[in-house]
Amino acid sequence: MTSPATGRFAPSPTGPLHYGSLLSAVASYLNIRSKNGAWLVRIEDLDPPREVAGASTEILHTLEKYGLYWDKEVVYQSRRGERYNEALAQLTKDNLLYRCSCSRKEIARRGEKFYQGHCRKGSKPERKRFSLRIKTPDRAVTWMDMIQGQQIFNLFDSNGDFIVRRSDRLYAYHLAVVIDDAAQQATEIIRGSDLLISTPAQRYLQEALGIQSPQYGHIPIATNAKGEKLSKQTGAKAVSLRDPARTLVMALRDLGQDPPDDLEASSIDDVLEWGIRNWVLSRVPGELTL
Ligand SMILES: [Zn+2]
Repeated sequence: MTSPATGRFAPSPTGPLHYGSLLSAVASYLNIRSKNGAWLVRIEDLDPPREVAGASTEILHTLEKYGLYWDKEVVYQSRRGERYNEALAQLTKDNLLYRCSCSRKEIARRGEKFYQGHCRKGSKPERKRFSLRIKTPDRAVTWMDMIQGQQIFNLFDSNGDFIVRRSDRLYAYHLAVVIDDAAQQATEIIRGSDLLISTPAQRYLQEALGIQSPQYGHIPIATNAKGEKLSKQTGAKAVSLRDPARTLVMALRDLGQDPPDDLEASSIDDVLEWGIRNWVLSRVPGELTL
C-alpha cells in the first residue's frame, strides 16, 4: 500500500507569519486537501539564538485564524535531537562525514562560494570547535519539480560539502528537514522558490540515508515593491488577522487560481472550500509578478 498524500508546512519561529510564508502554507494546504491528503505542521526551532519568544504560538494562531487547520500534533525540531544523532551516526559509519574547523573568513579567503572539500583529509591544526560536513560528489542531482519543471544541479557546485552539524553543535537545517520530512511521511513538499537551491542537498541526504524522496514543488516567492524577497530581514509585515477571507482570495490570485471576485465576501471556510475544489497545481506561476 502506498502512503497517503501528505503535505507539510514548516515555518521557523523567527517572527510572525508574513505574506510570503502564508502563500506557501496556502499552496501546500490546498494542494494536499484537494487529494484528501493530510496536512502537517512542523516548527523549525533548531536555532535558539534566532528564535523570537512567542513566535511559534503566534504562527499557529495565525494559521487557525486563516482556517488552515492541521492534522496530528505539531512537531518541534528542538525535541528531535535523538533522531538527528542517529542519522549522523549512520552517515559517520558510511564514512561520509568529516570535521572542519575552517572559519568563514578562511573559506572566503580561499575564494570559495561553496565549501570545496578543504578538510576532507583532516582539519589541521586540530581545533576544539569543528563542524561536521558531508562529502558531496561532483555530479548532477535532477528532479522534476511540480511547479518549476525539470531541475538539474551539480551538487558540488551548487552546495559544496555542506554542514550537517554546526560548530556550536546545533543540527544543520538540511539534516533536520530530511529526517523530519521522512518521519512525517511527507509525500509532496510545496514551498518557496528560495529553497530551490536546498533541494539538491536534501535529495542527496535522502539518498545517503536510504530515504525515499518526496515530490517537490517550488512556488514563486513574494517580493516587496523593491523586488526584495518578503522576509523578516527585509522587514516584511505580519499578515493581518483582520480580514483573512480577503487575504486568502489574494493568495489564490497570486497562486494563479482565478477565484471569482465575489468570493471575498464569503467566509474563510467557503474560500478554502472553493480553493480546494478548484485547485489546479499547473496554474501556479513559476514567477510572481505583483
Ligand atoms: Zn575546513
